[in-house]
Amino acid sequence: MIERMLQVPTIAELRRHVGEARRQGKRIGFVPTMGYLHDGHLSLVKKARETCDFVVMSIFVNPLQFGPNEDFERYPRDIERDRELARSAGVDLLFTPSVEEMYPHQVLTTVSVAQVSEPLCGQSRPGHFDGVATVVLKLFHIVQPDAAFFGQKDAQQLAVISQMVEDLSVPVEIVPCPIVREPDGLAMSSRNVYLNPEERRQATVLYRSLKQAEAWLKEGVPLDEIKERMAAMITAEPLAEIDYVEVLTYPRLTPVDTASPGQRLIFALAVRFGRTRLIDNMMVTV
Ligand code: AMP
Repeated sequence: MIERMLQVPTIAELRRHVGEARRQGKRIGFVPTMGYLHDGHLSLVKKARETCDFVVMSIFVNPLQFGPNEDFERYPRDIERDRELARSAGVDLLFTPSVEEMYPHQVLTTVSVAQVSEPLCGQSRPGHFDGVATVVLKLFHIVQPDAAFFGQKDAQQLAVISQMVEDLSVPVEIVPCPIVREPDGLAMSSRNVYLNPEERRQATVLYRSLKQAEAWLKEGVPLDEIKERMAAMITAEPLAEIDYVEVLTYPRLTPVDTASPGQRLIFALAVRFGRTRLIDNMMVTV
């Protein structure tokens, strides 16, 4: 079978091809990414293929969601490799707009989701989730998918998008997908390539601390104590510098002192290794 995948760089062409698929009665699935694809991204495509007839992936490193001292310029990019991976994973249409195509003029409109955007990465990356919500809503208007697929790796992003879609009655089904990990537990991320071998080795502490947190919760260890133990575990790795270690309710991301039965919680952390900031999380129902 010849697998065909079209790549388009303009909004007009994207709309034309998606419009054609929709006229054929196809259900449109959408996977937004920033590229430098790995198995985490491809798991979203696989999930999309299960329920949709036509899968659109976007690759766009969105300047709106990067702070002035963040890694927008050096964010890894390899469109040739991405195109091949997307094609073999079953993407039908690859949307690769330039910054000028997405933002030809100064952007004066911002989508801001209160509360859910504020804790965790909202503290350390001011404005980040406004940039995410704004580009995702814009992409939703461009693609007009029936369903969009997001990884739980970025659990706060997923919570922000779900809240936005609900608040603004956006007619897109949001499908959460599980975190894909390396064999040693490190969550797959395009940013993992920044890690040197020693940082990469020590970075396994993120997942190890989350697994421990889960075990401690089962043993009835109080949440504050769990956070302290996690922090101690992480700082035992000499190259690790904690940004945050938190436990909150999910998806509203409100503070929680004591776990109550049936409650959905998220253990979330962000840790720096040199210039690389990694995030990971684990959701548990008490
Ligand atoms: P990014 O390219 O990092 O913006 O990610 C694009 C999409 O892929 C987002 O929905 C992410 O949550 C998802 N994603 C990234 N890494 C993983 C992973 N390890 N497992 C599952 N989904 C992921």
